[in-house]
Amino acid sequence: MEKIAVIYSDDYLKHKVTKHPENPLRLTKTIEIIEKSWLYKSGIISIMQPIKAHEKEVLYVHSNELLMRIKKLAEHGGGKIAPDTYVSRDSYNVALLAAGGGLKALKVINEVKRVFVLCRPPGHHAERDVARGFCLINNIAVTARNALNMGFKRIFILDWDAHHGNGTQKIFYENPNVFYASIHQDGKTLYPYSGGIEEVGIGDGEGYTINIPLPPNSSGAMAIACLYEIIIPVIEEFKPDIILISAGYDGHWRDKLADLRYTEDTYYNFMKHIIEVAEKVSNGKIIAMLEGGYDLKYTPQSILRTLEAMGDHIYYEIKEEKINVIEKRIIEILIKKAKKVLSKYWNV
Ligand SMILES: [Zn+2]
Repeated sequence: MEKIAVIYSDDYLKHKVTKHPENPLRLTKTIEIIEKSWLYKSGIISIMQPIKAHEKEVLYVHSNELLMRIKKLAEHGGGKIAPDTYVSRDSYNVALLAAGGGLKALKVINEVKRVFVLCRPPGHHAERDVARGFCLINNIAVTARNALNMGFKRIFILDWDAHHGNGTQKIFYENPNVFYASIHQDGKTLYPYSGGIEEVGIGDGEGYTINIPLPPNSSGAMAIACLYEIIIPVIEEFKPDIILISAGYDGHWRDKLADLRYTEDTYYNFMKHIIEVAEKVSNGKIIAMLEGGYDLKYTPQSILRTLEAMGDHIYYEIKEEKINVIEKRIIEILIKKAKKVLSKYWNV
């Protein structure tokens, strides 16, 4: 069985305001369920401390102005940095520690090939100059950018959060070395209102962005079909030397922030497919970082399912999610549309 590192610190709980869906309980409930799990008790999962990112490591991705805005707001006791996004007294340091979770993952990736960074605040909505959508620093973007600096040549980011990762897409939109692929609820119906099929990158980065916008109410089986039919073949062709995952759990049917119908098993299947392809192309190296996921019962359970897939946890009997006739028709049309756009760049 493959070893897994979960990167976590209690300091991640220090970013907080009252009554916000993105709150510390998301992590305390998750770490609780992990510590009770067979994977943890049998030593397959080890919990490691993150390192704090240096400002210079974050400045490859964000403007100094944004960092200083977060820092000053925190120093003054906190406040809103965007209508939906808060900064509290410790948030600047916590945000550097969240990004540093990815940097720690890069440090250990040659010893532990499968890493899950259990961090917050999330990151994928944060743009170079803008904190928004509960995100301050774009953790996965900082990780990808520093991975390039370390000598990784081709990085593939899969974003399975229910929301489109507008920030990550924008940061690498012209970069052919960092591929961004997202499966999300259609931006016509959900924040941040971006991520159409036709958004494929520009300049040198043209063809290195994939967006699969699922209609509201889509099931996990529909998402997995898109992963399998479109994204996996592109990963095989792109041949990344590491796969990063923006692992958000708000696509779960119980989550109130989106309208998808994923189950815990959907996340097991997502990860299982990614592991299979990673073993072929990236020597099995995978770093997943937590993004959204706000249901306090099902986010922790879905994360545990993800970890079970990462640990090749075979005694867990996985139920293949069934796709019905209507769903099949909807998804075939969507896959056809996406293939039409992407076949200009890839063998899909
Ligand atoms: Zn989300």
